[in-house]
Amino acid sequence: MHSRKDILNDAKKMLEYYQALGFDSLPISTRAFSNAKVVSAGGKDERLLAVREEIGDCNRCKLSQGRKNIVFGVGNAGARLMFIGEAPGKEEDLQGEPFVGEAGVLLTRLIEKMGFKREDVYIANIIKCRPPLNRDPEEDEINTCRPFLDRQIEVIAPEFIITLGRIALMTLMNNNKIRITAARGNFFEYKGIPVMPTFHPAYLLRNPKDKWLTWSDVKKVLERMA
Ligand code: SF4
Repeated sequence: MHSRKDILNDAKKMLEYYQALGFDSLPISTRAFSNAKVVSAGGKDERLLAVREEIGDCNRCKLSQGRKNIVFGVGNAGARLMFIGEAPGKEEDLQGEPFVGEAGVLLTRLIEKMGFKREDVYIANIIKCRPPLNRDPEEDEINTCRPFLDRQIEVIAPEFIITLGRIALMTLMNNNKIRITAARGNFFEYKGIPVMPTFHPAYLLRNPKDKWLTWSDVKKVLERMA
C-alpha cells in the first residue's frame, strides 16, 4: 500500500512532468484514471507461461546466435493495456526484460503519468531476441517470431494496445507502407482491439520536443478507457 509520502511524491512527479511539457494546469481530470481498473489475470498467467515454454531455448531464427536472453514480455497477464515495441536492446538482452534501459525509464514514466504502475500493464516486443547492433529486425525474423506475440495478445486480450515506433506498428498492421508520423494519434484495430500508435521512447530521447505528441496520443486511449 502507498504511504502518504509516496502519494505526495507521485503527485509532485506528475506536476513536474506536466510543467516540463509546458502546462500551467492539469490538461485532463485525473478522476478519469480512477476508472482505469486493472482486471484480474484469471488463468492467463498459466497460459502465458505455456507460450513461453513453447518458445523454449528458441533457435528458430538467426537472432538466436547473438542473444544473451530471450525477452518474452513483462507485466500483468490480465492487463487492460498492452504496449508493444520493436525488439530488445542491449540492456534488455542482458536483463531479459523489455524496456529497462534509458528508453525503458521514459516508458515507465509515461505509464505512471497515465495513472498506472508498470506492473499493471503488459509490455512486449515484436521480436524476442536482440538484433545485432540494434539494427531493424529483418522480414524473416519478424515472420518467425511474430506468432508468439499474436499468442501473447490472444491470451492477455487487452482492451487497448499502444504500439511504440514504426516497426511495431507496421508489423501489427501487416502494412509496411504505413508511416508513424502520419499514423500516430489515430486509432487502428488489431482483431477487434483498438490500437494507438505513438513514437518509440528511444525516438523521444533523441527528440524530446515530441514527448508532447506522445502524451496527446496516449491521452486519447485514457479518454476511451475512462
Ligand atoms: S527472435 Fe523469436 S524466433 Fe528468433 S530466435 Fe528469438 S525467440 Fe526465436
